[in-house]
Amino acid sequence: MGLTLLSRHNPLASTERQLAVLAETKACLPFEERLTSVGLTPLDATGITVFQINVGKLCNQTCRHCHVDAGPDREERMTRETAELCIRVLAQTDIPTVDITGGAPELNPNFRWLIEQATALGRHVIDRCNLSVLLLPSQSDLGAFLARHKVEIIASLPYFRPSQTDAQRGDGVYEKSIEALQLLNRLGYGQEGSGLTLNLVHNPVGAFLPPKQEAIEAQFRRELLRHHGIRFNHLYTITNMPISRFLEFLLESGNYEGYMERLANAFNPAAAAGVMCRYTLSIGWDGTLYDCDFNQMLDLPLADKAIRHLRDVTPAGLAGLQNRNIVTGNHCYGCTAGSGSSCGGAVTT
Ligand code: SF4
Repeated sequence: MGLTLLSRHNPLASTERQLAVLAETKACLPFEERLTSVGLTPLDATGITVFQINVGKLCNQTCRHCHVDAGPDREERMTRETAELCIRVLAQTDIPTVDITGGAPELNPNFRWLIEQATALGRHVIDRCNLSVLLLPSQSDLGAFLARHKVEIIASLPYFRPSQTDAQRGDGVYEKSIEALQLLNRLGYGQEGSGLTLNLVHNPVGAFLPPKQEAIEAQFRRELLRHHGIRFNHLYTITNMPISRFLEFLLESGNYEGYMERLANAFNPAAAAGVMCRYTLSIGWDGTLYDCDFNQMLDLPLADKAIRHLRDVTPAGLAGLQNRNIVTGNHCYGCTAGSGSSCGGAVTT
């Protein structure tokens, strides 16, 4: 397993460096111009139905394509004080879904507290799970906890064969993922009538776009059932974002301009109209607010300087966030290519 950009002192650990690479892209029109050409500027929110909390960058894996640069060495994590602020703001709203991500969000000591509080408020909770975390000795009761609170699990599984998954996520991760999926199935996840939703996420292993969702979902369903007896509800496809460790891969392999050209050529106005930032509010581990988890990882906060942190949020401010202008850049081509990313993105990959 590799190390994070940060611990390797890679220049791309700096978001300024990433933003400079993206801004200098030659293979495509600036994203804002492309949006203007289809009448979508300024891109604005259409409400907030997802309150996405990123509790930090700590993870037990160091996947090659991770857009968070997460890993075991990362120390950024949400404190109880900020978690309490999340719940206080959430309680002032009727936002129906709380989407918890990381890193491996389960490793944050406040993860279970957040779930208990959000479900007590009647909100639907999603856990963006890397699967292998369920097998850690410290997490032996995690699956049962998630089932008890009827938490929806969105789990990364790049492919239904070991070699492609391990190439992206580390040696032995496929086997652990299968074991974790079997454990979740035993708890009722993915089983008809259980009310426990288990969705998988496929992302390409290289510098290309994901295939059509329906076809790959059917393949995953057939292969996982035949070889491992695994059932799941839906398979989502996501496009790898040209940021962080995937950006490193693109630059090192000489694929960067070609990949950006591929994304731009596949620009789909319908996908652009439906991007997740239009209905999501993204909260960082320190309480800073963003339009999405990708902007969060590029240190691009909300456009409105008056509301940059959870502590700035007032009832009037909350109303204003519902139709705020969204901060975009060339990385956004990753959300608008082909059918777009179908799971609200932001699973650590
Ligand atoms: S990267 Fe974020 S801001 Fe850009 S289109 Fe995607 S969701 Fe929206």
